[in-house]
Amino acid sequence: MSLLENRIGVADAVLLEEVNEDAMLQNYHARFKEDQIYTYIGDVLVSINPYHSMNIYTPEFINEYRGRNLYELPPHVYAIADETHRAMKERNADQCIIITGESGAGKTEASKLIMQFIAAVSGDGAEVHRVKKQLLQSNPILEAFGNAKTLRNDNSSRFGKYMDIQFDFKGDPVGGIITNYLLEKSRVVTRTEGERSFHIFYQLLSGADQAVLNELALERDANAYKYLSSSKCLVVPTIKDDKEFAATRAGLEVCGFTKDEIQSIWRILAGILHMGNIGITGSGENSSVSTKDIAQKAADMFGTDVASLSAAITFRTVETQGDSVKSPLNVAKAEYARDAFCKAVYSRVFSWVVSRINDSIRVTSRERTTVIGVLDIYGFEIFKHNSFEQFIINHCNEKLQQIFIELTLKAEQEEYVREGIKWTPVTYFNNAIICDLIEAPRTGILSLLDEECLKPGNTSDDSFLQLLDKQIVRHDHYDSRTKSKNRTIDDKAFRLKHYAGDVDYNVAGFMDKNQDLLFKDVPRVLFASKNALLKSLFPEGEAKKGVLQRPPTAGTQFKRSVAELTTNLTSKSPHYIRCIKPNEEKRSRVFDENLVRHQIRYLGLLENLRVRRAGFAFRQDYPRFLQRYKMLCPQTWPVWKGQEKEGVRLILNHLGVTGDNCAYGNSKIFIRLPSTLFMLEDKRRDA
Ligand code: ADP
Ligand code: MG
Repeated sequence: MSLLENRIGVADAVLLEEVNEDAMLQNYHARFKEDQIYTYIGDVLVSINPYHSMNIYTPEFINEYRGRNLYELPPHVYAIADETHRAMKERNADQCIIITGESGAGKTEASKLIMQFIAAVSGDGAEVHRVKKQLLQSNPILEAFGNAKTLRNDNSSRFGKYMDIQFDFKGDPVGGIITNYLLEKSRVVTRTEGERSFHIFYQLLSGADQAVLNELALERDANAYKYLSSSKCLVVPTIKDDKEFAATRAGLEVCGFTKDEIQSIWRILAGILHMGNIGITGSGENSSVSTKDIAQKAADMFGTDVASLSAAITFRTVETQGDSVKSPLNVAKAEYARDAFCKAVYSRVFSWVVSRINDSIRVTSRERTTVIGVLDIYGFEIFKHNSFEQFIINHCNEKLQQIFIELTLKAEQEEYVREGIKWTPVTYFNNAIICDLIEAPRTGILSLLDEECLKPGNTSDDSFLQLLDKQIVRHDHYDSRTKSKNRTIDDKAFRLKHYAGDVDYNVAGFMDKNQDLLFKDVPRVLFASKNALLKSLFPEGEAKKGVLQRPPTAGTQFKRSVAELTTNLTSKSPHYIRCIKPNEEKRSRVFDENLVRHQIRYLGLLENLRVRRAGFAFRQDYPRFLQRYKMLCPQTWPVWKGQEKEGVRLILNHLGVTGDNCAYGNSKIFIRLPSTLFMLEDKRRDA
């Protein structure tokens, strides 16, 4: 069955009679009811999470989609995977697949299906086999360390992931490189009730042998650890932690982690759990560790001595002109320091795990490789309360949208030029102005935030907001209560008009989160660790003379990685998968129209459709068009011996499709309106 025959609604939104949000929504709804979870917008795939297993990912389906053109079959994630893989091989050019959507929309599942497809359709020599195994096995490791159960998704990725799969000239995978973004490290110590910390903690406790737990001084019961018990959710019905532990460990082995390395990781995780149980008491400005035995366990696991570990969380060393002064921390600050300690340790272990995987799977030889990059990153987040994290994520999405519009328009334009067809420029919303508002050097919000963080004296989240109000008050896309006397904006918030809609960001915590301060006491203690892995993760702890350089702020680091990602993606030919979540309850067959409407907006789908529909809704090369419709014209039926382009002209003239309704490109016919196409299809069916 071809794309055009798949007539539950339309299989490509480009074929909709009307270009508006409602029409798109109704089409998705109609298709979703019939279990058609995939729909195109041109060559962009829109995927709606079915929340039930579907019989469309079998080896038969893989075979069916292998080596076929996008429009030959109903929309499918395999069609995108095949198209991407083939484009890479045929043009010998780097490709990327950008997958976006909100949490629980199906991004990670889509990325796994792509990997599965590529593994199935590529060669199977011994070396290729090893690489495929490692690429596939890296996934359970990343999920164990980077995913968690949230209210929205039992297996929610709490980090952004970009993976380059490297291929040889035959199109067989020979390696890969993973880049991780923004792990939500606060989850290690706290999260919303009903959610869990990262899977690996529960896996370790329920899956490790008793002897291993004894060595780590751990009890099997997760309830014994405050860092786990506090959110009142320890088991998830859909997850078998002990089985997953075996998969994680197997993955680590396949990816070349040594026994020692694995052991070190367990010790660090155990250390974190013990740290969470450390009691801190005190009065006034002083505090001390009240549970020496537990602190001792943590110190053993971290390979440090208990006195330095305790001091690192109850005192802060401040250096002033060569002198260092130790000042005590009160209970609240000591608890904060303890948590910051654990978050830092965890996020660095995570990054190390990623780079360790890369060490074993990336291609190091000089042999030239072509790559397919797969980006699986959270989409726009608009909550009731939006904080620094949403600001950062949304900035990333604003950038991705910019790339998307630029590249889609460029690709359209290039096709028109290639085909020798007149191009009428499309007007569209250029969101560069919002990207600049956030990231411009000196004048952008991120720079102003850094400026406020570096100012000596009394600065606060409030003074940061005042600075924004003073500096960017005139910007069209910025708003706050002081600027507009707009009573709908909170006192402590500013509003940005993103392409996807207005978002209010509450400034509380912006300064802290941006500075992400880890006082030197922590790196110093950990650099002295006997655990070689831990030591290597805190190189800045090495005692050196002179002023320690201030590490870049969280905002600056993120700005850099987004810039790197942008450069990377724009150097490749992009393919897109937009994922939609049909309801908030993870239920199958429930389609919440309001929820989906929001996502259509945040994903920029309407804009996408407009660009795609600006000229011609449909295009197809002459031979295939002729083959399909030659029966509709006596001059071309049953065989046409002349030029294919002329044959197509005869058919269309015969049916009265002339003038503005179509255009004859060098190799393709372009048809302006979907109705023309359906007329052809109907005639064909009735013929
Ligand atoms: P995201 O990465 O966007 O947060 P996931 O890919 O983890 O979302 O999907 C969330 C859950 O939805 C999965 O664990 C799975 O149960 C279900 N799901 C997602 N995509 C599909 C699909 N194509 N078929 C069946 N179930 C799916
Ligand atoms: Mg995910």
